[in-house]
Amino acid sequence: MIAPGFIDMHSHSDVTLFDDPGGESKAYQGVTTEVTGNCSLSPFPAGKGGPKALQENVALLSVIGHTDWTWNTLDDWAGALESSGISINLAPQLGQAALQVASGAIDDRPVTRDEMREMQRLAAEAMEMGAFSLSTGLSLAPSGYATTDDVVALCKSINHYEGAFYATHARMGNGKHLSSIEEAIEIGQRAEIPVQFSHMAIIDRRVFGEGPAMIDLLVKAREGGLDITYDVYPYTAAGAGVEQLIPLWVQEGTIADFLGRIRDPQLRPRIREEVAAGLGGLEPLWEAWYVGYIHTEANRHFIGKNVEEIAREREIEPAEAVLQLLEEEDGLVPGRVHNRFEGDVRYFVGHDLAMIGSDGLAVAPNGPFGSSLPHPRFYGTYPRILGRYVRDEPVLTLENAIHKMSGFPAQRMSMKDRGLVKKGLVADLVVFDPETVIDNATWEDPHQYPDGIPFVLVNGVPIIDKGKHTGARPGKVLRRGAA
Ligand SMILES: [Zn+2]
Repeated sequence: MIAPGFIDMHSHSDVTLFDDPGGESKAYQGVTTEVTGNCSLSPFPAGKGGPKALQENVALLSVIGHTDWTWNTLDDWAGALESSGISINLAPQLGQAALQVASGAIDDRPVTRDEMREMQRLAAEAMEMGAFSLSTGLSLAPSGYATTDDVVALCKSINHYEGAFYATHARMGNGKHLSSIEEAIEIGQRAEIPVQFSHMAIIDRRVFGEGPAMIDLLVKAREGGLDITYDVYPYTAAGAGVEQLIPLWVQEGTIADFLGRIRDPQLRPRIREEVAAGLGGLEPLWEAWYVGYIHTEANRHFIGKNVEEIAREREIEPAEAVLQLLEEEDGLVPGRVHNRFEGDVRYFVGHDLAMIGSDGLAVAPNGPFGSSLPHPRFYGTYPRILGRYVRDEPVLTLENAIHKMSGFPAQRMSMKDRGLVKKGLVADLVVFDPETVIDNATWEDPHQYPDGIPFVLVNGVPIIDKGKHTGARPGKVLRRGAA
């Protein structure tokens, strides 16, 4: 079967492709373009503090890359990436957290008028350079300090660019499965801008099965004239660091501020209590939170262990274990949390408003991430859809699945030259065998390539040939409206 190359609607390889330019984990799946800059996180634009301040404080991105950020703008970043050479294409979005860091608005307070003006100026600059959209991460720091009005104001400053849209990792969390969608819709309506709702899921076990009520909100908004769609990945665990167990007020400001609060003997008991109680009134399932990455040599043996196991080993309470880990690992401990129900995942994957986005990174097993334990979605998302959701226990037809992985994302991105197999379009192509295609990446052993995808072409150049990476680097940084 020959299909358009897969367009991964949700990725975070903005800086990791400097480390792993072959993008192996995605290339082997047939991904030819990754949409980056999601969840408020982009490696540009730098403000007065320069790239170093941006790198330090867009921490979620910087912790997963090993390259020093030396660029200031989208153009500079794209130039650096292309001159180092990449195997797959990237389609950059602009992250609101970068705007916050660049303008100094990283505290839990309303932004000032000057800060907003500066953010709007930088947003327009990035859009002029071809950013596809603006993204937020409203349950993360610092993005979550923004009010609905702030986000509306930012979106209004970019809504006139052709094809521009608003991508949101919403203000999700326990008890917020409906309100997070309502806010995204309100922002889209008030700012008159299309909306892409990121990684749709139910992460609150009290409301498993309520997917139809959520999607109904989208359907109604569409009937009212809002162009809103969503992306989803086919797994029952989220990629999440244990810092997501920490209330946002503790994370205000810089990483140093955050660690300072955790270490403050006055504050620590209160923080520990809030972590133990759980956010949104739902006690954490400690055994569901797994550590995937560790910086320090001393803690390396915790990779693959869950918080419950780590607490037991240290003979402390799980909430205290979380605080200790964050202290020792400079405030970020990426990993995964098993917090979803397969029936919900299948419902969200199957709905017509869904496109597929992995939320994973393009990494190589022999690269700097090889010793960590990434989410299997890095290696398995697309073959998993084709093998398990189309062939083995179907929720999708093959044609519909391909559309959700190529044509539909291309439509959202206003890419006129990709997303279809058609004469005159760019030859981003994948060849797979529908009888054998399958993901092999598991929770315990995620660095596994799929089967059944022998050929992948990017911009007409084979990057996978007879099931092997060719080492070719035909990838480009794409721009909005370029074709
Ligand atoms: Zn996200």
